[in-house]
Amino acid sequence: MRIVLVGPPGAGKGTQAAYLAKNLSIPHISTGDLFRANISQGTELGKAAKAFMDAGNLVPDEVTIGMAKDRMAQPDAEGGFLLDGFPRNVSQAEALDESLKADGQKLDAVLDLEVPEDEVVKRIAGRRICRNDSSHVFHVAYSAPKQEGVCDTCGGELYQRGDDTEETVRRRLEVYHAETEPIIDHYKAQGLVVTISALGKVTEVTKRAMEALGRSDA
Ligand code: AMP
Repeated sequence: MRIVLVGPPGAGKGTQAAYLAKNLSIPHISTGDLFRANISQGTELGKAAKAFMDAGNLVPDEVTIGMAKDRMAQPDAEGGFLLDGFPRNVSQAEALDESLKADGQKLDAVLDLEVPEDEVVKRIAGRRICRNDSSHVFHVAYSAPKQEGVCDTCGGELYQRGDDTEETVRRRLEVYHAETEPIIDHYKAQGLVVTISALGKVTEVTKRAMEALGRSDA
């Protein structure tokens, strides 16, 4: 399956993507993770992306689209993928449509995770992420690790993303409404959008998502 996951920052895209990708046996491709990996490796691409990310703005399309396409062209993504954080504006969605069409492929679904705005800010401000694996996500109040600052799953160090401050979250939400939400209409016109509530336990949301994708069997 070829799936796009969309939703505001803090909707739980990364967490859900990890479970869904595992259930569906497809790679989880997160442009945010790719940028963060480039930043920690000190690459030119990482240097180009950092200031935009720190400010809560989108990294320019010239950088982002090429990086996403390169990742989708890897052998593990031949049979499908779950995109998390890409496309994030209509021109990226059009670039993705064109690139899939050129390869005789198409998307199967766009899964839209809905969550109220005040919940988003609470979720993000308390979010802590494992340095070893960004799908190991905790929250200081909602799902605290057994030992503060240490990942329950792998023992890695937990940290707060530099762009997870309240001020930057508000900017990221503005960017989401202005730039990313329009892709939902873009994909509605193609009959691809399924919307689910992202509230509740992680396992409940995953179940809802699998049902919405018609894959509760997987
Ligand atoms: P995320 O991990 O998806 O929340 O992304 C973190 C940040 O990376 C975003 O706030 C953007 O600055 C940047 N980013 C990730 N994906 C994209 C994209 N598709 N287009 C532009 N910027 C992106």
